[in-house]
Amino acid sequence: MIISESLAHIKNQLGTTHLIAVTKTHSVPMIEQVLATGHRIFGENRVQETAQKYPDLRAKHPDIELHLIGPLQTNKIKEALDIFDVIHTLDRPKLIEKIAAHNPRNKRFLIQVNIGAEPQKAGCMVQDLPALINLCHHHHLNLVGLMCIPPIDKDPTPYFQQMAALATHYQLPEISMGMSDDYEIAIQQGATYVRIGSAIFGDRLPIPDPE
Ligand SMILES: *Cc1c(COP(=O)(O)O)cnc(C)c1O
Repeated sequence: MIISESLAHIKNQLGTTHLIAVTKTHSVPMIEQVLATGHRIFGENRVQETAQKYPDLRAKHPDIELHLIGPLQTNKIKEALDIFDVIHTLDRPKLIEKIAAHNPRNKRFLIQVNIGAEPQKAGCMVQDLPALINLCHHHHLNLVGLMCIPPIDKDPTPYFQQMAALATHYQLPEISMGMSDDYEIAIQQGATYVRIGSAIFGDRLPIPDPE
């Protein structure tokens, strides 16, 4: 697959939705191919991997915007705030409080919602949202939206609809939802960010050991 062609195919369907090119497990030369098309918004799910791949790329392209879309451990907060512009995975009070202690300026945050209420999944329960939103406001974090990964092997449409309703209800402008297999539906349902990896780069290599 030619990266510039798969990117162009996706970008044709975006409308006003922004594309986050998810580069986890993919090499710097692959990322360079995306940069060569003019694209600048990227997502990674691990702090360590991002810290290894992106500083050189950023030196060449200072306008790269980096989104953390994977879980954040409290012992990696400082490193995450050093490298990422947007963090999509706030999901618990302790994490929000520890981030706020760094008084992060010029950063944007989203709360991850476990929209299918799946026991093994990251993200907060829908009923915990008001308390987490209030906590972000209390600490003056720049909370801009909500993020979700809907249950696998189910029609994502009702989950995306519920996410859009929650964002409207809480007056949050950004909705981060939709991946390679379901981004068209997410766009229809009002995603402002889709997070796409394999539809751009092809299949990922096996995931390395956790940090
Ligand atoms: C890997 C990942 C994606 C992209 O997945 P694809 O199916 O390759 O498009 C999106 N969101 C999150 C949170 C991810 O970890």
